[in-house]
Amino acid sequence: MQVPLVCPSCRARLDETPTGYRCPDCGAVYPFDRGVPRFVEVDPFYEGRWARPDFSRGSLRNWLVKKERFFLKRLQGQRGVLLDLGCGGGWAVFAAVGHAVGLDISVTSLLAARQVYPQVVCASLEALPFPDGAFDFVVSSDVLGHVPLGVKDRVLAEIWRVLKPGGRTLHYIEADGSDPAIRFARRYPGLFRKYIIEPEGHIGLETPEQIFKRFQAAGFRPRVELPVYRGLLYWGRVRQYFDNEYRGKNFWVDRWVDLARVFTAHPFLEVGGNVLVALALEVGDRVFPPEWAGGVLVDYVKGG
Ligand SMILES: [Zn+2]
Repeated sequence: MQVPLVCPSCRARLDETPTGYRCPDCGAVYPFDRGVPRFVEVDPFYEGRWARPDFSRGSLRNWLVKKERFFLKRLQGQRGVLLDLGCGGGWAVFAAVGHAVGLDISVTSLLAARQVYPQVVCASLEALPFPDGAFDFVVSSDVLGHVPLGVKDRVLAEIWRVLKPGGRTLHYIEADGSDPAIRFARRYPGLFRKYIIEPEGHIGLETPEQIFKRFQAAGFRPRVELPVYRGLLYWGRVRQYFDNEYRGKNFWVDRWVDLARVFTAHPFLEVGGNVLVALALEVGDRVFPPEWAGGVLVDYVKGG
């Protein structure tokens, strides 16, 4: 069983041709690109950037990394048709739910995701090529922070449209935290853009509160809204953010980078160091203020 494809501009059911899909209503043509139906132009920033399939399904790392544990626990035993938005290389935990469809704007990522998902499409988040009510679950991880603010409501409306009534949507969303290190970083807007926003394409960050409000305004009923990753970063991230022209500007940030250099000196040390961070985050997420959160974990239901 495949989820049927519709025209993302006029929503008519598409006809399959040897070279792609054709819309019987508006005449639009959507080609196969290396066998993947493609509805958008290639975006060089994303093409092939996150393209490794994740076959883990209950590994030790899944249990240590809070966002992975969240999906693992909340989807355990759930069955249905699932859409993974911005799927990158795909994840076996999502595939275990049932027929899973991977959607991404990178064809290279989708070729990898095909090892995990039986159906993949290259399309934009704001115009999904699926019929209304096609999915029981719509999920994403590390994706919605990449969506420009002016487009977010359209993306949520599309998630609402393709979900069945009573369907669930679960996300890890990067948030605009305001912990002391990020507040310090913001004092240098040029560096902030260069080292914190642009390397990952986090052009659409909002505060945890703004994210929750947006989902609720779109009609979603919250089951879980959890600000996470409060005040701490994994060691590689510390170096990416602050081991650069930020050096010499703040005593404590410099010491943090020194420590990050030690922990990233060897892969074994880095794994051990990141386990320590994961454990410290369990404490930090309980004691630090929610505004410090670098991300949110959410689980919403469509309808009453
Ligand atoms: Zn059409």
